[in-house]
Amino acid sequence: MEPKKKLETTELEVLHGVGPKTKTSLYSLGIRSILDILLFLPSFLIDKTQLSDIKKVNSGEKALFIGTIITIFKTRGAKPSLILKVDIGSSILQIRFLNKIIVYSYLKKGDKIRFSGILYRRNNLCEMIHPETEVIKNNPKLELITPYYKIKKYFSQNKFRQIIKKAFMHMDGKNLLPEILDSNFLLKSKLPNFLKALRDCHFPSGKEFDNADENFNHARKRFVIEELLAQKVKLSDAHSLLETHQSYPITIDKYEEKKLLEKLDFLLTNSQKEALLDIKKSFLSRTQSMRLIQGDVGSGKTILAILACFYVVKSGFQAAVMVPTEILCGQHLKSFNSILKSFDVTIETLQSKHSAAKKKEILSEVNNGHIQILIGTHSLIQKDVRFSKLGLIIIDEQHKFGVQQRTLLTEKHNSNLLYPHQIFLSATPIPRSLSLVLYQGLDYTVINELPKNRKNVITTLINNSSREKLYKEIEKILYEEGQVYWVCSCIDHTETLEAEYVKGIYENLKLKFPDRNISCLHGRVTPEQNNKTLLDFSIGKIQLLVCTTMIEVGVDVENATCIVIEDSDRFGLSQLHQLRGRVGRGSKDSFCYLIYKDNLNDKALKRLQVMKDRNNGFKIAEEDLKLRGAGDYLGVKQSGENKNFKIASAEDAINNFDFIKKIGNETFLVDTNKRKELISRWDVTRESRINI
Ligand code: ADP
Ligand code: MG
Repeated sequence: MEPKKKLETTELEVLHGVGPKTKTSLYSLGIRSILDILLFLPSFLIDKTQLSDIKKVNSGEKALFIGTIITIFKTRGAKPSLILKVDIGSSILQIRFLNKIIVYSYLKKGDKIRFSGILYRRNNLCEMIHPETEVIKNNPKLELITPYYKIKKYFSQNKFRQIIKKAFMHMDGKNLLPEILDSNFLLKSKLPNFLKALRDCHFPSGKEFDNADENFNHARKRFVIEELLAQKVKLSDAHSLLETHQSYPITIDKYEEKKLLEKLDFLLTNSQKEALLDIKKSFLSRTQSMRLIQGDVGSGKTILAILACFYVVKSGFQAAVMVPTEILCGQHLKSFNSILKSFDVTIETLQSKHSAAKKKEILSEVNNGHIQILIGTHSLIQKDVRFSKLGLIIIDEQHKFGVQQRTLLTEKHNSNLLYPHQIFLSATPIPRSLSLVLYQGLDYTVINELPKNRKNVITTLINNSSREKLYKEIEKILYEEGQVYWVCSCIDHTETLEAEYVKGIYENLKLKFPDRNISCLHGRVTPEQNNKTLLDFSIGKIQLLVCTTMIEVGVDVENATCIVIEDSDRFGLSQLHQLRGRVGRGSKDSFCYLIYKDNLNDKALKRLQVMKDRNNGFKIAEEDLKLRGAGDYLGVKQSGENKNFKIASAEDAINNFDFIKKIGNETFLVDTNKRKELISRWDVTRESRINI
C-alpha cells in the first residue's frame, strides 16, 4: 500500500480540476498544499436567510437578491469590465465586475442568479460592484448561509468554495485527520476538534444565521489558538536555546542598595519593588536576562533603570541607556546624576551638542571603561562607540526603536562569549509589545500601580468654539503658578489641513497672555535650543510651552499641571494618554483639555470620551482596539500588513494572551514530534515574523 501522504505536503494537483492556472492563482493567495486550502478560512459568513426589499435598502448598505440576467456586455480597453443587467422583479439592477472578468465568464444571459453585496444608488441607477454571485440551477437547493473568502479577484466565491469542498473530500476520503491538539485539552478548553471546526467554518449549516455564526466564531478561535500556540512553542524552544547565552555575573551589595534607597525622597511602590526583585533575580543567574518592563506613564520606570545600572556598575561593568530623544537624554542624565552622585559613578551622555573633541574624549573614556554609564539616543549605535565591559543595555521607550537599532546595540560588547543583560522599558501596551513577550520569549514584568501621591488628571473635552472659557481656566492655572503644555499636531500652517499649528497658537497666546513667558518647542529648532527651552520650562522660567508631540515621551516636569491638546482627534488614544502623562506628576491637581472642532463625527467623539472616562493605559488601549481595530490602532508605521500570522489578528494575539501563556506548557506538547508538526503546520519559520 502506498504510504499516506500528509496533507501538509500534498500537492494541489491531486485535486480534480486543479491545473497549472488554478495552481498559480492559489499560490498567489499563499496556498501551497491541501492543508493550506483547508486552513484558508472565510473572513465571515453571509446571511442569506432573507432576501432584501430593494425599496428599503439605502445606498451603501448590504443587500441580497435573486434575479435573472437580461443583458451582459464587456467594456472595451486593456482592462475591460463586465456589466450585467439583472431583473429582480420589482426593478432592474446593474452589476459590475472590474478587471479579471474571465473569472465570471460562466455567467450567461438568462441565468437565474442569487447575489449579495453593497448596493449603491446613483440617480436612478442601482448598482453592485463585485457582488458575491451564484447561479441557481434547475433544482435550487440554496444554501442559506455561505462563507465569504478574501480571495481578491483570483476566483469567484463559487469556484473557490468548490476547491475547498474537493480538498475536504480528499482529506475525508484518505481518512487523514490532521488533528494535533489533544482531545482532553479540547474538551477542557471547550474548543471543537479539527474536523468539526473545519465544517463549521467552510460549510455552515442550519437555518438560523446567528447560530451558524456563533459556531463559526468558535471554530475560527480553535484555529487561532492553534496558530498562536505554534508561535509560543517555537519561541519557548528558541528561548531555551537563548538561555545558553552566558552573561556577566552581577552581584547585589545589600548595604549599598539600602543606602541608595534611603537617599530617594520617596518609597518604592509595591509594584516597583516586585519589578526590582525580578530584575535582581535574573541578574543573579549567569544567563543573559532579557526583560520587558511595562508600566503606565508615570509609574516610575526610571528609578528601576537607575537601580539596574547601579548594580551593574558596582559589579564592575558598564551600562548603556538608549532613549528616543535628546530631550530625554538630558533629563535622564540629570536624574541619574542626582541619585548616583554620592556613589562615585561616572555618567555621560552622547549628545549632538558635544563638539567633535568632546565626543572623542567621551568615546575614549567609554572604551577604556572610565565612563560607567553612557546615555544617548540612537547615537549609541554608531560604529565608533565601543565599550570595554558592557554588562547591561537599557532601552527606554522601546517601541520607539526599530528592531535593527536594538540589535546593533547588543553587538557593542567586547567579548564573544558573554552577552550584556537587556532591559526594555515601555509605557505603551501595544500589541507589538505583547507579541514581543509572547512570541519573542522575553521575560515580562508589569508595573500596575502608580505612586500614591499621584492626583488624577481631570480631563475635559472642549469644543473649539468655547476657547474663551478655556483661556479663563488657563488664567487660573497660571495664577496658581502652574505651568502649561500646549500641544499642536503641526508646526506650520498647512493648506490642506484645518489644524492648529505651533506658530499660530504661539502668536495667539502671546496676545492672550501678554505678561507670561511663552516658548515653542518643535523639531525644526536645534536640539540644543530645545534642551535649553525645556530646561527653562523645568525651572519655571517659562509658563506656557507650545509644542509638538516631541514632549510625548518621558518628559518629567512636576510643576506642569495642565496640558492642552489642539485637534485632539488627530492623535491616537495611546498617544493622547502618553501626552496626558506629562501632567499629574506632582501633588497638585492637574488638568487635560482636549480641543475638538465641530465637524467631528460621533465615533471620533466617542473615542475622545474614552480619554475622559479612563486613566489607565491598558484599558485605553483595549477600548481603542475595540473602536478602531488593530491596524488603525497601531498606526501605519507599526502595523504594515498583517503578515505575522496566517489566521490570527493582532486582536486575537492580545485577547488570547493569558490563555496561550497558560496552555503553553500543556503536557501533550512535550512530545517533540507534536511540537515540530505544530510549528511546521503554521509555518512559523517564515521570514515574515513579528517585526518588533
Ligand atoms: P515613567 O514610568 O513614565 O518613566 P518616571 O520614571 O519618569 O515615570 O517617574 C515619574 C515621576 O515619579 C518621577 O518624578 C519620579 O521621581 C517619581 N517617582 C517614581 N517612583 C516614585 C514613587 N514610588 N513614589 C513617588 N514618586 C515616584
Ligand atoms: Mg520614562
